[in-house]
Amino acid sequence: MATVEQQVNRDAHNGATPNGAAAGTDIPVENPATGQVVAHVPDLDAAAVAELAARARDAQPQWEAFGFDGRARILLRAQKWLIEHAERVIETIVSETGKTYEDAEFAEIAYAAGAFGFWAKNAPRYLADERVKSAQVLLKGKKLILRHRPLGLVGVIGPWNYPLTNSFGDCIPALAAGNSVILKPSEVTPLTSLLLAEGLRECGLPEGVFQVATGRGPTGAALTEQVDMIMFTGSTRTGRKVAAAAAERLIPCSLELGGKDPMIVLSDADLERAANVAVYYSMQNAGQTCISIERAYVEAPVYDEFVGKVSEKVRALRVGAPHGPGSVDVGAITFPPQLSTISEHVTEAVDKGARVLAGGKAVEGVGGRFYEPTVLVDVDHTMKIMTEETFGPTLPIMKVADAEEAVRLANESPYGLGASVFTKDTARGEQIARRLEAGAANVNDAVVNYTALELPMGGAKASGLGSRHGAGGIRKYCSQQAIVVTPRLAMKRELHMFPYKAKTTRMIARLFKLMYGRGDRD
Ligand code: NDP
Repeated sequence: MATVEQQVNRDAHNGATPNGAAAGTDIPVENPATGQVVAHVPDLDAAAVAELAARARDAQPQWEAFGFDGRARILLRAQKWLIEHAERVIETIVSETGKTYEDAEFAEIAYAAGAFGFWAKNAPRYLADERVKSAQVLLKGKKLILRHRPLGLVGVIGPWNYPLTNSFGDCIPALAAGNSVILKPSEVTPLTSLLLAEGLRECGLPEGVFQVATGRGPTGAALTEQVDMIMFTGSTRTGRKVAAAAAERLIPCSLELGGKDPMIVLSDADLERAANVAVYYSMQNAGQTCISIERAYVEAPVYDEFVGKVSEKVRALRVGAPHGPGSVDVGAITFPPQLSTISEHVTEAVDKGARVLAGGKAVEGVGGRFYEPTVLVDVDHTMKIMTEETFGPTLPIMKVADAEEAVRLANESPYGLGASVFTKDTARGEQIARRLEAGAANVNDAVVNYTALELPMGGAKASGLGSRHGAGGIRKYCSQQAIVVTPRLAMKRELHMFPYKAKTTRMIARLFKLMYGRGDRD
């Protein structure tokens, strides 16, 4: 059977050779910035996914046997490959997402290049056998080992907003741990994953260890039926379905879901910095980032000044089809239904009394799919723009009396992915960060926690289960095995074993009293 990469039918203008995939039955991949179809990919059914899984399982033992050093060698070659082919990868990402050159370079290439190196270096440390000491008297003299062993076959289901970072990025630690991986990218953005599969093969990754299952929702559901663990990034709605399917099969799952990340600006904040961070991290990648700033709460004394600065900066942003570095600031809306969600949230807010200070509508008559960078004020929590994930280039700003009101409103959400607080009093900022119900909280910055691969990145509440990055971000792709070794010269019969004798039982009871029953407790 040909691999999925071999079956991809790219349209002639992007340089790849068409190879006979039937475009009628396959999935068209559209450039959201131009509206042109750039390729077709196969829509794999459950039987095809099962075939990929069988191949992956055959390949896994050999990959595990490469050991940490052997796997690191391939990952480090892939790091170099990525940098050497950066232009081609950026072109592919831009062609299927419509994002700007810089959004692809800074938030995708930079992330993946760093991640290849990070997991190559840290997998052995995070997954090394641990010698454990037990307080249990029966275990004295025995050797206790905690071992992390790869699960076997990991499935990754990825979203369309960061085809390299969010989709492929989660495969890197799974591979570093010694698993085979099948990635189901969003059907909207499958090309980057396919290109990376090609790159990994060139770097010497054995056949079958990393495969891409292109397709729609049912392909993702079929993948969940085959794997030993599923890593999912996407909406809370679909995340629940994935978790239910994983529960049926009793396999672990890790979910990174939606967010409605709040930003709090206190009166003593550096307003120029706060405004720049607010504009960048609400509009970067056209707002299609799980941890983008989705709403801001600003203390009354600095509200007008902050709003003035933000509105001016947002009005200056250039939105449109990217054509190379520096051409535009804000790119396209990648996912077709997202444009309606953004429009609906803005329109509903305006109908309920919000004022638009910048943008406020879709960009018409340009061929692609764009939404004007938008700033809204006079907003409140009766509006979807303040409570539901908008995932677009929008920033609603709400005036609050004080930090207490800001914290209360920030936490008044089913989501809890990221949050940020701005103040020159960093100790107070840290105290407030600790009170925010979010998996990550930044003081005087936003989003950057994602780049700290040493820190867990995961959501609280309806924003997810588990996390990526850090020790937990690779251990989740392993099962734990406890190994207990009794030395060669152990007693022939341990004290507690048959036959039970009253004298021994009383002695053991005295021992328990000595160990656990001495002294006062209050
Ligand atoms: P979804 O969560 O619905 O889908 C993500 C992926 O899961 C897609 O590949 C999808 O395929 C697949 N999928 C759908 N149903 C199943 C299933 N039953 N089992 C396994 N996989 C399945 O995200 P969308 O792309 O539809 O975006 C919807 C919303 O999600 C956005 O508006 C945004 O709010 C949020 N989102 C959050 C992201 C984040 O980073 N946390 C990233 C992207 C989106 P298919 O597309 O064919 O349904």
